[in-house]
Amino acid sequence: MTICLRVPSNMSPPEASSPLDELAPTPARRRIARRLLRWYRDNRRDLPWRKASDPYAVWVSEVMLQQTQVSTVEPYFRRWMDRFPTVGALATANEDEVLHAWQGLGYYSRARSLLRGAQMVVQEHGGKLPVAAHQLRSLPGIGPYTAGAIASIAFDQDEPIVDGNVIRVLTRLFALPGDPQRATLKKQLWQLATLLIPRGQAADFNQSLMELGALVCTPNKPLCSECPVREDCRAVRQDRVSSYPQLRKRPKPTQVLVAAALTRRAGRVLVVQLPADAKRWASMWQFPNAEVEPATKWPRAKTDSSPWEPNQQLAGAAEQALFDAVGLHGEAGTKLAELRHSVTRFRIHLSLFEVRPEVGKAVARQCQAVRWCRAAELADLAMPAAHRRLAHCLEPTVLAASPRRA
Ligand code: SF4
Repeated sequence: MTICLRVPSNMSPPEASSPLDELAPTPARRRIARRLLRWYRDNRRDLPWRKASDPYAVWVSEVMLQQTQVSTVEPYFRRWMDRFPTVGALATANEDEVLHAWQGLGYYSRARSLLRGAQMVVQEHGGKLPVAAHQLRSLPGIGPYTAGAIASIAFDQDEPIVDGNVIRVLTRLFALPGDPQRATLKKQLWQLATLLIPRGQAADFNQSLMELGALVCTPNKPLCSECPVREDCRAVRQDRVSSYPQLRKRPKPTQVLVAAALTRRAGRVLVVQLPADAKRWASMWQFPNAEVEPATKWPRAKTDSSPWEPNQQLAGAAEQALFDAVGLHGEAGTKLAELRHSVTRFRIHLSLFEVRPEVGKAVARQCQAVRWCRAAELADLAMPAAHRRLAHCLEPTVLAASPRRA
């Protein structure tokens, strides 16, 4: 099989004796491409977004897969495509519906970008995603990686992709030192990913690189003995596989204590909607809550089964959260639930207190809207995963309905 190599028009072709050619000479590139494609044909996972190359489905799946594991994404993707089967269907949805369908996946700005992107596709591109990567990049939330993925997988364009899996495979395969987030290595990786594409086969080739990173060239204990490109792998030759990629150290997780208020009236519970410009969970519904600073006490480790008594500071914070959100004074009582939750580098310990309100009307203050909800209604609101879990923890007589997962 003859494999030609091509560079997209927006990049200069590497010169014959370029450092890239020395790093990955033509015979090696051809061999790597051939072996990866063959391996991919035999080993690719049967994933729902691979059933057809519908550009909209590829777009949705690629956005969902950012920062999220395949096994988590699969059910979300299926439900999303049932609910918003076309870009036109998504464009006419409202933000509440979209956030509800996304709840639990996290990084909600991705869902908002998809919605705005769908509206732009309908208004500016006649309902069809543009083919060219540079046009795709003009849509909200679509960066170089997503544009390359859609252009190559859905439109057979010879566009490269570089994600975490590709970074791992390429830095090991070519023994590339340095921090992949730094400009120099980042540029080199994109050039290599471009150079390696066998002409006209970017869809399968790009996916083969990602699939190899997901199944074989894994972060820990890669299965080098089963790797189709082992023969060309410089990290293996150097016996330094674990030295690549040279990722910068992650900052230590920050521990955060949060107190939330459960306030009831006539069989309903009070929830508030965050402002549309909130930094996190914008426009989503929550129990009124506040961060407790400084954290007076970080509770027991998971292995410690001793009870952690609610302290005055958390209870006071729950009362204050209710007042700040809706202007109601209240008195904190029993702690109803507590849970741990991780968001990016934050490790949140969330405690929910019963807060009995004084007589008065709840008025939106530091929130967008206020609702007194019956249990069944609560299930229909878009809530961040932690608050959805809190709702699950409550006694069935108060919140009888099982919240519907998006
Ligand atoms: Fe990764 Fe090992 Fe394959 Fe090299 S041989 S690309 S380190 S799995």
